[in-house]
Amino acid sequence: ASEAEEKDLVIIGGGVAGYVAAIKAGQSGMKVTCIEKRGALGGTCLNVGCIPSKSLLNNSHLYHQILHDTKNRGIEVGDVKLNLGAMMKAKETSVSGLTKGIEFLFKKNNVEYIKGTGAFQDEHTVAVNLVEGGETTVRGKNILIATGSEATPFPGLTIDEKKVITSTGAIALQEVPKKMVVIGGGIIGLEMGSVWSRLGAEVTVVEYLGQIGGPGMDADVAKQAQKLLQKQGMKFKLNTKVTAGDAGGEGVKINVEAAKGGKEETLDADVVLVAIGRRPYTNGLGLENIGLEVDERGRVIIDQEYRTKIPHIRAIGDVTFGPMLAHKAEEESVAVVEYMAKGYGHVNYGAIPSVMYTHPEVAWVGQNEQELKAANVKYNVGQFPFSANSRAKTNLDTEGFVKMISDAETDRILGIHIIGPNAGEMIAEGVLALEYGASSEDVARTSHAHPTLSEAFKEAAMATYDKAVHY
Ligand code: FAD
Ligand code: NAD
Repeated sequence: ASEAEEKDLVIIGGGVAGYVAAIKAGQSGMKVTCIEKRGALGGTCLNVGCIPSKSLLNNSHLYHQILHDTKNRGIEVGDVKLNLGAMMKAKETSVSGLTKGIEFLFKKNNVEYIKGTGAFQDEHTVAVNLVEGGETTVRGKNILIATGSEATPFPGLTIDEKKVITSTGAIALQEVPKKMVVIGGGIIGLEMGSVWSRLGAEVTVVEYLGQIGGPGMDADVAKQAQKLLQKQGMKFKLNTKVTAGDAGGEGVKINVEAAKGGKEETLDADVVLVAIGRRPYTNGLGLENIGLEVDERGRVIIDQEYRTKIPHIRAIGDVTFGPMLAHKAEEESVAVVEYMAKGYGHVNYGAIPSVMYTHPEVAWVGQNEQELKAANVKYNVGQFPFSANSRAKTNLDTEGFVKMISDAETDRILGIHIIGPNAGEMIAEGVLALEYGASSEDVARTSHAHPTLSEAFKEAAMATYDKAVHY
């Protein structure tokens, strides 16, 4: 980088938030530099998050299905063996293909990529400690903080990513543990717990709350998800808190007690997965050099246009407010560049979907029943089970349901909650419906191809404003 030249935009962090903003800025004709310290683009999501976890979820599901769900389909298989090394290789191939793809897109859109750690020197200057040694500085008219998040540690348990692991260790274990304890029954705990349970580990999930799934999951869906995961072999301890852990011996000992106090118990494990949430990452960013503060949860404080109190410095993605999701970060990337280039942008935070990639999948958008009750909103609910859906029946994959909630007065859809096969793909229709302010009748009167799983979506809509036909 030339020290004299001032860029239109300097981005710190090459995760989803940073790299998408870089490409969009390049496309808008801005001179842009993206600084990333990990040596590869794509951030948490591509390197150690969404992508590697979905590779393992997909392949561990296939393995589990071949072991347990072929005979009734008329398929007889011989010896089935797990080759964990090869499964990890497949994961690495997916990851490296995608991260290299971003480097190509950077070149195509004239984005300068600097491998190094960035820190604010002053309000327009970022000093970069280069991965390959040495230092440089870059100046920007605008600067975007997109430094993401990291796993929240559990006090008293030192992460070694072998015995005491975060999701980063959980996507890279070299052998299947006999016993795994998962602290936290949110999305990471359930997705990674599923992977290792399918591959043969005895998995116990300890969750502080009375419900699994983390924030936002509808209680009916969470209950059903727990039932189905239990059927697959996972164990759950709800309303239970971990009080201490000891990884000093051969395995790990985890002390738990009832959340409200009471009976204590010690769980033994070979591996403990700490999955109690993630926190914004601003270590070493030099925010103090420019007088920028973070809130009590470590989030960079911004306004509606993603501006910090220094207006040309903005922040998006996991490092600031909102759900820590890759597609949320991506929406913000487009909007923040539009704010810079044109003065306006838009993200509809009421229509950001959530997906849990277990089997069956769980997906939702909008509000759940508990939230609507708490807000005193009157609503109608329509539900349709996959056991009454023709495609689910032909696939012998009938567990779960679609639940739609609409406003009692206007029938405008307020929330959609799905547990079932392909829920993560199906929710896109729900997001579109919410985005366009559709009523359940609008969806019910829309033709859906037969036989498809999405007919369950249509029938749930029918059940919301009237009656389902096939149930
Ligand atoms: P990050 O992806 O964390 O990127 C920030 C980047 O900034 C990092 O690469 C970091 O190295 C770099 N950086 C930090 N500080 C500096 C510095 N000073 N200088 C230079 N570079 C710096 N979300 C989904 O939507 N779907 C999923 O299926 C999903 N699965 C997940 C699975 C796991 C196991 C985990 C952990 C997360 C998952 N997420 C998923 C969440 C998703 O990964 C994040 O929401 C997303 O990565 C946020 O993007 P970001 O760019 O804000 O931050
Ligand atoms: P989470 O917030 O989803 O779940 C954490 C869970 O841990 C909560 O249920 C909480 O009640 C529980 N918990 C907290 N402290 C505890 C304690 N001391 N003892 C027992 N339980 C405790 O967080 P996560 O699962 O770590 O995921 C982190 C972030 O990553 C989330 O924002 C999530 O959206 C994102 N992510 C998304 C996906 C996806 O979209 N499929 C996948 C993985 C991660």
